[in-house]
Amino acid sequence: MSELKKYTFDGSSKLKLASLPTNSKKDGVDKEKILEKTMKNQEKIAELQERLYADGTEGLIILLQAMDAAGKDSTIKHVLSGVNPQGIDVFSFKTPSADESAHDFLWRVHRSVPARGKISLFNRSYYEDVLVVRVHKLNRGYHMSDRVIGQKDKDFFEKRFKHICGFEDYLYENSYRFVKIFLNVSEEKQKERFLERIDKPDKNWKFSSNDLKERELWPKYQKAYEDAINHTATPENPWYVLPADQKWYTRYLVSEAILKALEEIDPQYPEISDEERERLKESRIILAGSAEPEEKEEKEKKEKKEEK
Ligand code: ATP
Ligand code: MG
Repeated sequence: MSELKKYTFDGSSKLKLASLPTNSKKDGVDKEKILEKTMKNQEKIAELQERLYADGTEGLIILLQAMDAAGKDSTIKHVLSGVNPQGIDVFSFKTPSADESAHDFLWRVHRSVPARGKISLFNRSYYEDVLVVRVHKLNRGYHMSDRVIGQKDKDFFEKRFKHICGFEDYLYENSYRFVKIFLNVSEEKQKERFLERIDKPDKNWKFSSNDLKERELWPKYQKAYEDAINHTATPENPWYVLPADQKWYTRYLVSEAILKALEEIDPQYPEISDEERERLKESRIILAGSAEPEEKEEKEKKEKKEEK
């Protein structure tokens, strides 16, 4: 998993977004091979997800953050296409509703935490509360007491970083794991994808003129992302800052990150007790007249021969 390693931030080194590549050229990879590896990863993810569900001892939260048009939606669609829909829920975190705004910022998040054995995919997340909120200084307009919103922005967000780390640590200690991904797209590629959304009728619905306003704030967002990641990357809950200019490569790295978490969880099908095994045997006898599958198979073979 060497390619993934250089995009992993666990707090041991500082992220400098400007020095990280947004495309795969620097990795010098072969597209065909990468597509093949992605497919294999997808299969492994699907199998491990079945085990995760059967095991039920850990829950997984996959969190995707990115600028517009970085490919969050299509990444989700592709990488998790083989996963049993019963084991996964997708949550898109949009501008908070009136009800959500009237609560603490993690309130709506906590309700989206999966039961152990399941996966929740967060399309955007509580990190918006230290990104869009910070860039637009939305905190200053919050309907909150002065002791909270009256403090310096720097202090306000430092505390939020602390709360986020506490929340993630709390869940980790409650048998959950996070895969936190930032899709690192270039400004140039975003422009290209916006133009495609404008030019292709079937993509028009994806474009909003507000996206252009956010694009103008690119440097502020880069700074906010960098700061948020540096404050919240830990060995238990690292960040993956993945190049997002070539979707096929992004999908591969995302599949690697998810697979890594599932392999670390190493979910096992539950072992049954001797008593339960005995009950299974009894049920088998009722259904097939024999306690062992070999006997049944032989019986079927004999029957087939007789039919001929
Ligand atoms: P697409 O890539 O299709 O545009 P999207 O994730 O950008 O998908 P939108 O409906 O366009 O979805 O945007 C959701 C918006 O909600 C984002 O601009 C995001 O910054 C904003 N948002 C999310 N959480 C918060 C929050 N806590 N406070 C303020 N705004 C938020
Ligand atoms: Mg959008």
